[in-house]
Amino acid sequence: MSLHCAKQCSCLASEETSCLGLKTSLQKYRMQDKYDVLGLMAQGSFGKVFLSRHHGTGIQVALKELKRAGVEESYIRMEVGILKDLRHPNITQLLEVIESQDKVHLVLEYVMGVNLRQEILRSHNNRLQEKDTQRIFRDMLGAVDYCHDRGIVHGDLKPKNVLIDTQGQAKVCDFRLGIQFRPGQEVTAVGGTLAYSDLEKISRQWYEGPPLDIWALGVTLYEMVTGDYLFDGCKSQIIKNILHGTVSYPKFISNNAKKLISKILNRDPTKRPTI
Ligand code: ADP
Ligand code: MG
Repeated sequence: MSLHCAKQCSCLASEETSCLGLKTSLQKYRMQDKYDVLGLMAQGSFGKVFLSRHHGTGIQVALKELKRAGVEESYIRMEVGILKDLRHPNITQLLEVIESQDKVHLVLEYVMGVNLRQEILRSHNNRLQEKDTQRIFRDMLGAVDYCHDRGIVHGDLKPKNVLIDTQGQAKVCDFRLGIQFRPGQEVTAVGGTLAYSDLEKISRQWYEGPPLDIWALGVTLYEMVTGDYLFDGCKSQIIKNILHGTVSYPKFISNNAKKLISKILNRDPTKRPTI
């Protein structure tokens, strides 16, 4: 996003700060009073994401539509509550929230590009070069470091929740399963993506939050450099492999990448590196 655009977008946000809290009364205007929907970008697991344009400024935004009937209110509140306080170049910026009786629209900075899964698939040999992986992974680390410093665990890191813009910059999105924590405080989470979950999340109800994100980053890093899912198959197979499996690396992976991935994927969260 250009500086000019960022400035305009922040005006959009401050103009409507009151609607960021979900406890406020229903808005006087409807989503279509302010935005034109240009097309469907993605059918997420909990709602649709539309490319839209703000009437006044012409700025393009991503509208994430959550149907109240299909999503627990606590998830919506969590996603908004967390996103509204985050300002980081590697995190999709929440601009405003528009509520109606049956829907909540999150108005987000539009990231023109693809998600990281699509980026992997469209790359040569369906995997990323290590130099591209380094750049993207560094962006992801910046975003997660910022979150952990502020007592926020993302809770669902995976390639589909990382967007890559046309400049190649990565932005972490989708804080629906975000968790707020205090240092040393254990957390609990429901949901998430099994193949990116660590042993703690699978086997215990309470666990330290940040190591969960670190593990997911390791699984994602493996996927970036190999193009393959690390844990795949049916639910029981995935659980068995997370509990007992060993990681095998294709020959083309550099020693440095192997060492880093093995270090991150330590089953003992206390021995796992921090960001
Ligand atoms: P869900 O909670 O349903 O998983 P996400 O927030 O992960 O929804 O969004 C689903 C998909 O929509 C993403 O993988 C991405 O392709 C697209 N998307 C989400 N937010 C944006 C955005 N701000 N800009 C562009 N595309 C987005
Ligand atoms: Mg998602």
